[in-house]
Amino acid sequence: MITTGSIAEIQAIISDFKSANKKIGFVPTMGALHQGHLSLVAEAKKKADIVVCSIYVNPTQFNNPDDLKKYPRNIDTDKGLLDKNGCDVLFFPSDEVMYAGRNTISFDFGKLDKVMEGKFRPNHFSGVALIVSKLFNIIMPDFAFFGQKDLQQLTIIKKLVEELFFNLKVITVPIKREPHGLAMSSRNERLSKQEREDAKIFYNALTEAKTLLSKNHSAQEVQLKVESLFSDHPARLEYFEIVSDKDLLPKTENYLAPDTVLCIAGFIGNVRLIDNMYLNVNS
Ligand code: AMP
Repeated sequence: MITTGSIAEIQAIISDFKSANKKIGFVPTMGALHQGHLSLVAEAKKKADIVVCSIYVNPTQFNNPDDLKKYPRNIDTDKGLLDKNGCDVLFFPSDEVMYAGRNTISFDFGKLDKVMEGKFRPNHFSGVALIVSKLFNIIMPDFAFFGQKDLQQLTIIKKLVEELFFNLKVITVPIKREPHGLAMSSRNERLSKQEREDAKIFYNALTEAKTLLSKNHSAQEVQLKVESLFSDHPARLEYFEIVSDKDLLPKTENYLAPDTVLCIAGFIGNVRLIDNMYLNVNS
């Protein structure tokens, strides 16, 4: 695996691959890699000739300075995992390379970035769109792989690609879970053994909500049920929403349509976790 933090260097490497007619698959990450990230790498290997991953903890998408400071960083382990799992090129830039002291551009996605995560993490998606645009322009991939785990991010990136005419295809990869259901996340590393147990509530709440909706309970009943699960529990619920994956707005009917997705976010201690589940797909 080739590793570089230089834009000029990675562009030269990619240009050589493109001259040889190789298709580039790109997996952007913030590191502290787990099986979820590696499932994106596996998909990229299936679809593309060359797999490029990036590891960059992007400061502009963190609205909470403490979350940025405590974000897990395991670069040596990550490099080993990527190498073993068939990544061809790792882009690992510094803040100086990615921002050079500048942070002047912001994005507004209308309603898409004002609901759910956007409501609780102001400017988060502007930072995501900025870094993803920079990375797309540097790497110019044919395919870019994103996890369904960050459903709102996925919707926003698809919009970004469409509106800015990025010449690439976004591929969605399903959520990888721990055996008892907890969605894999780099932030899980910050949970104690007990907290990991407590964190099962997010998956359990989604599963229960899915069952109730499938049995024709109303959105309001389901909302109340989910809130009641958290009422006497160490986890704190931030939001539970039943939305369409098209516009991320709440659905009040036609739940069994394929766009319905249940989204949840909350805290275990000071660690914030998110998860989601389609109503009519196993996820
Ligand atoms: P992150 O490093 O958290 O920014 O995530 C990098 C990519 O991995 C994003 O596209 C995430 O959606 C994806 N990802 C994170 N966790 C999972 C998971 N449990 N299953 C599948 N993809 C994931």
